Amino acid sequence: MQRLESTLERIDRKGYGAYKDLRGSYGFEDFDLFIDKVQRDPFAPPSLIRVRTKDNRFVPALFENPVRRVAFEDFLTRGVERAIRETVRGNRGSGKSGQVQIQRPSQIVLPRSSMVVTDGYVEARMAVGLPAWGRSVDARAAREMLLDELPEILHSALTPSGVDSDGARRHVETVEDAEHLRDRLADLGLVAFVADGAILPRESGTSDRPLRDGAVPFSSPEEFRVSVKLPNRGEVRGMGIPEGVTLIAGGGFHGKSTLLEALSWGVYDHVPGDGRELVVTREDAVKVRAEDGRSVAGVDISAMIGKLPGGKDTENFSTPNASGSTSQAANIAEALEIGASLLLVDEDTSATNFMIRDERMRELVRKEPISPFIELVRPLHRSMGVSTIVVVGGVGDYLDVADRVILLENYEPRDATGDARMVREKFPPRAPLTEGREMHPPGARRIDPSSIDLRRGKRETARGRGLHTVELGRKRVELSYLEQLAEAGQTESIARIVGAFAAGRESREVVEIAASALSNIEREGLESLGGFAGHPGELSLPRAQEVASAINRVRSLESRARKRA
Ligand code: ADP
Ligand code: MG
Repeated sequence: MQRLESTLERIDRKGYGAYKDLRGSYGFEDFDLFIDKVQRDPFAPPSLIRVRTKDNRFVPALFENPVRRVAFEDFLTRGVERAIRETVRGNRGSGKSGQVQIQRPSQIVLPRSSMVVTDGYVEARMAVGLPAWGRSVDARAAREMLLDELPEILHSALTPSGVDSDGARRHVETVEDAEHLRDRLADLGLVAFVADGAILPRESGTSDRPLRDGAVPFSSPEEFRVSVKLPNRGEVRGMGIPEGVTLIAGGGFHGKSTLLEALSWGVYDHVPGDGRELVVTREDAVKVRAEDGRSVAGVDISAMIGKLPGGKDTENFSTPNASGSTSQAANIAEALEIGASLLLVDEDTSATNFMIRDERMRELVRKEPISPFIELVRPLHRSMGVSTIVVVGGVGDYLDVADRVILLENYEPRDATGDARMVREKFPPRAPLTEGREMHPPGARRIDPSSIDLRRGKRETARGRGLHTVELGRKRVELSYLEQLAEAGQTESIARIVGAFAAGRESREVVEIAASALSNIEREGLESLGGFAGHPGELSLPRAQEVASAINRVRSLESRARKRA
């Protein structure tokens, strides 16, 4: 600590480059400070530091198993973020002077690299903007940041005396309960569960926080109510959605998309107070939508789309510019390729001609390559064990293929399966469905790493740019339509996974690329994705589904689907 002080004194008012001398580690009274990377100038990306406590005096129950540990790390990251907001003065000069940052978590609990809890210490990884007067060192401000603000953050957010212990326990137990619930789904024959009392609507289209005023709490229809015993909370009751084909019906603005969205986020755990803590979905569920304009590389969509104009091959379908329906077919084929036991589909974001075709169009248009989704949902379940939850407001034909119908009225769900049967008798299907169709899994694709160019000037780069963009070399991969990508840290991890694959020589299957990266991370932590020496503090764990989705959207991608046996 004294060494830090004297170095600061020595470099005061010198050119900004003198900050380089701060690199290294410093022992404080109850923590160690590591200054891993020093920024070049006040406007460059901030400097990277780690703060590590000398011991870990938190009660071991908070981190005694991997699930609890991740939840506790998440809790601490949020605490540090709050402490930064409360104690750091902020702007102290030019550029990023005075800023202190830690990874910014969403409403979702994820393994992240911002915080490490071990039996022996707690370590937070942060970024700081070392302060400058113009372009020279402002040692006084730096001393305040490193010697006053940092210790205060540490005491209020990383030691048992500063941390709300009930809050920590609730956080950890909530996550453990959600994990348990999700793990039970398959045994119970369910694909999703929505607890009674859950708050599904969000504050606004741009905020993921719960709607505060006038939210109608979820209440399961008696027919779908199941009860599950959880390790911490005890018994919880709510709506179980069984495997098979489930329709969510209802008038416009009655809460259909809100329910489906809550289900799509149910692949992740949520923080206490979110409202969706006990809304869980199979972890491999994929929300699929139309995405016209996306590129598609060598995807086998033959199960959904037959002969295209010009004899275009649908077992190895490629296009730089997919239509609404072909993009949705490709999204489904890719979801099946990486592995999904549940598809979530919303009419609002689907291509109409992918969802349905009525008798008149069947008569008029003889050259229709697309088998509408309505003909695929049953075979998907029958031959591949893949369930579907589909939101429908406008096309009653789906009543013919549904195992059950959940009808939303004023945000309240009701079992309308019986009513639907009566409606079907009253209005028989206009065009009978093609019976006996089988659905087959798409052929797996092998990707050629040399089709991903990482060159950017003299360097090779692969990085995340916010939530929705991966930048590979000079090219950008657009991820706005991935509705289950939760935070920028996942995007950064995905970028590095794709980058590592592209830098290699070996062509591999998409499934392999994602699975081997994720199992590496499981063994060695997010650290294994690299970063500045000892400081990878901006990564969150992505799902295999989103890793694959990013690869699939690389515009230069070259791949071929393996012929099915
Ligand atoms: P739909 O898809 O049926 O047209 P949405 O799911 O888009 O309807 O919901 C319409 C509006 O109602 C949204 O503003 C949403 O936030 C709100 N909403 C949804 N569920 C609830 C609820 N349980 N309580 C209060 N408002 C809700
Ligand atoms: Mg809707």
